[in-house]
Amino acid sequence: MTAFDPERRVARLASGREIAFDHAVLATGSQPVRPPIEGSDLPGVVTFRDLADIEAMRGAAPGSRAVVVGGGLLGIEAAYGLARAGLRVTLLHLKSRLMDRQLDVRAAGLLIDAIEAKGIGVVLSAQTAAISGTTRAEAVLLKDGRAFPADMVVLAIGIRPETALARSAGLACNRGIVVDNTLATSSPGVWAIGECAEHRGQVYGLVEPAYAQARVLADRLTGHDARFEGAVLATNLKVSGVQVFSAGEFLGGADAENIVLCDPGLRTYRKLVIRRDAGDQRLVGAVLFGDTADGLWYLDLIRTGAPVGCIRRDLIFGRHFVDAA
Ligand SMILES: Cc1cc2nc3c(=O)[nH]c(=O)nc-3n(C[C@H](O)[C@H](O)[C@H](O)COP(=O)(O)OP(=O)(O)OC[C@H]3O[C@@H](n4cnc5c(N)ncnc54)[C@H](O)[C@@H]3O)c2cc1C
Repeated sequence: MTAFDPERRVARLASGREIAFDHAVLATGSQPVRPPIEGSDLPGVVTFRDLADIEAMRGAAPGSRAVVVGGGLLGIEAAYGLARAGLRVTLLHLKSRLMDRQLDVRAAGLLIDAIEAKGIGVVLSAQTAAISGTTRAEAVLLKDGRAFPADMVVLAIGIRPETALARSAGLACNRGIVVDNTLATSSPGVWAIGECAEHRGQVYGLVEPAYAQARVLADRLTGHDARFEGAVLATNLKVSGVQVFSAGEFLGGADAENIVLCDPGLRTYRKLVIRRDAGDQRLVGAVLFGDTADGLWYLDLIRTGAPVGCIRRDLIFGRHFVDAA
């Protein structure tokens, strides 16, 4: 679709054909962010979003050097894939811990050890200043003057909701297309879901909230009064042999209590975040490293807000322990 007119209720395709609609659902996804730094558009610099990116990565010669910028989920998965393909990989991350939006300091520390054991160099607090090269990328330069030679640079520093179509149609947009609890945009009959939508100031970058929004919208468009009240985010890292799970308020806070179980020898770590609420205790966040088998059970407790005071003593040991107690 190249344009649509909410007043006339027609969408226009690239061919010029117009399609009339009663309801329009925008699900335009997002674009990978390219930092506004010198060299970010050089050949040899790719993002990690679509098939062309994957083809470029698959075409890299084993033994060549790859620098991945961004130590979130996608950056780590890209670094791991490239290392498995035989490239010499360095992962640069802006923050002082990997997956800083999903992991606390201890889990992130274990993750670094596991990633480095896969042969990937990790550099934290790395502020990328430029990508140097004449005809193609040759090195990533940091603000502190360090340079990391690269035959390929993968940028995995985040996404930007794709709002061009919505903006051109006059819909209210902030970072994403603004929707209310019914997933309605500012224009009657026009809805938005997925990574392009902004709900209560939040733009989601995972499939699960998008699926939940799609279910709500399908219900609404078939005459039911469903609402989207936000989503508890849960994350799994897809790196072989590195089990990482994070959900909800993983950092905790002054009004929360953390239950921690850590076995440095086995390299396992488990943290549950509990908050006292309405006379009982609720699980509001979890971080699991090394053994994530109980992740979905904890996620269910977080999402349902089930009282956990009566099982708190055994909660950290997992579902089987609680069931057997
Ligand atoms: C490499 C990678 C790995 C991921 N792994 C996970 C994971 O393990 N777990 C997880 O939960 N999430 C993961 N994600 C995120 C997940 O893919 C997205 O959250 C999900 O795809 C978002 O769905 P969407 O429908 O909002 O957007 P998209 O899936 O991006 O779909 C939007 C589509 O709209 C099209 N479009 C845009 N503008 C127009 C227009 N004007 N006209 C017509 N079409 C248009 C786009 O071309 C695109 O095909 C991953 C993402 C990437 C890139």
